[in-house]
Amino acid sequence: MLSIFKDFLLNLFFILLPVFLVPFWTEQEKGPRRLRLYLPTVCYAVVIVLCITLPVGAESNLIFDLRQIPLWLGSLYGGSGAAACLAIVTIAYRSLFGGIGILITAVVSIAIAAASRLLTKTFAQLPAKQRTLLATLLSFASGLLTVAMAGWMAPFDRPPLSVSLIFLLVQPASMFIVCAFREMVHHNIALRKRIIRAEKMEAVTHLAASISHEIRNPLTAARGFIQLIEEQPLAADKRRQYARIAMEELDRAEAIITDYLTFAKPAPETPEKLNVKLEIERVVDIIRPLANMNCVDMKTTLAPFSVIGEREKFRQCLLNVIKNAIEAMPNGGTLQIYVSIDNGRVLIRIADTGVGMTKEQLERLGEPYFTTKGIKGTGLGMMVVYRIIESMNGTIRIESEIHKGTTVSIYLPLAPSPSPSPISDKEKQLFAAL
Ligand code: ADP
Ligand code: MG
Repeated sequence: MLSIFKDFLLNLFFILLPVFLVPFWTEQEKGPRRLRLYLPTVCYAVVIVLCITLPVGAESNLIFDLRQIPLWLGSLYGGSGAAACLAIVTIAYRSLFGGIGILITAVVSIAIAAASRLLTKTFAQLPAKQRTLLATLLSFASGLLTVAMAGWMAPFDRPPLSVSLIFLLVQPASMFIVCAFREMVHHNIALRKRIIRAEKMEAVTHLAASISHEIRNPLTAARGFIQLIEEQPLAADKRRQYARIAMEELDRAEAIITDYLTFAKPAPETPEKLNVKLEIERVVDIIRPLANMNCVDMKTTLAPFSVIGEREKFRQCLLNVIKNAIEAMPNGGTLQIYVSIDNGRVLIRIADTGVGMTKEQLERLGEPYFTTKGIKGTGLGMMVVYRIIESMNGTIRIESEIHKGTTVSIYLPLAPSPSPSPISDKEKQLFAAL
């Protein structure tokens, strides 16, 4: 009795193998398409051969095994071509063993192939659970037909009643298990494909939102300078200077668009040596109209250390942090920007006396779309900051106290300077003491 179950389990193992393995081969978009198309049928044919070779209780002339399961599966999921192939393989291989069973196999296999031909379309349209149920019922029906034919055609050669009964029970049960696993595997694959598609969509939406957010900064600055030119009677050289800055800002807007559009693509990056002092001064110039509008007093203590990075991205990063600091002080305040050396790294510290953040807000900072500014915020500024600093091998530390203010500390590796350092050791010590 135990050996019968062992044999059934071995058959079940043969059948489950392709159910798990084939989807992974066919899912990979490698290899000729034709091969991937025929792979399930080939696998099921091999399983049929294995089942017949290693049957259940091989004493009698009639061979009982679970070959009908791969035959049903291959035919129902694969269509009439697969059904015909599998039926031929079954009959041909069973013929090698002789006995009256050949006839029974031929009748049952042809019946299965014919039934599958009628059912494949309906079967494909059914929900997964009903598909499993139908396959189970069909395997029970073909099992019943086999046992009945064996009883009728070979009354002296048939296996003991117990084996027939077990076969009648085990075959549909195995079919249920195999079918349920198959549906599960395919459901998971479909789900993964859907998730990948959703992630792609998310990235596209993200990109669009980022562009509009990041483009607003230079446009605001350009508008500010044009407004200055329009409203105030200015000296010719001042006017030219403002017009030049406005134009530069518009160029920057264009550069950012290009930058973001190429962001997703692995474009070759061009990091260069950046003078922290000059870059911060540039950003402070750009942001000054916004600071003035908010009555924010900007104080800077800068030093010309060098870091390696992409100019536009570094400016964007500083701009995002400084902009947040100014926006945190709608009723005015002080914004301090220090540059110093900390443990051999360049430290840029941007401190405001604004509204501050709660612990929960601080934890969520940098999460895409986290904003407390409602429709005005996009919640992308800090995410971009984190990404840029990370790409420059730097780190960020943020301390904040509600109603007191926020301090953002950016640490960046100091760029090695081949020429004599613009900062003397004495100066470095002084900055370290800051
Ligand atoms: P956005 O500025 O569009 O809201 P950010 O990613 O730049 O998006 O900032 C996310 C949130 O973090 C802000 O909405 C704000 O609540 C908080 N935040 C960032 N910087 C500061 C700061 N200096 N002071 C107070 N809150 C800040
Ligand atoms: Mg922001």
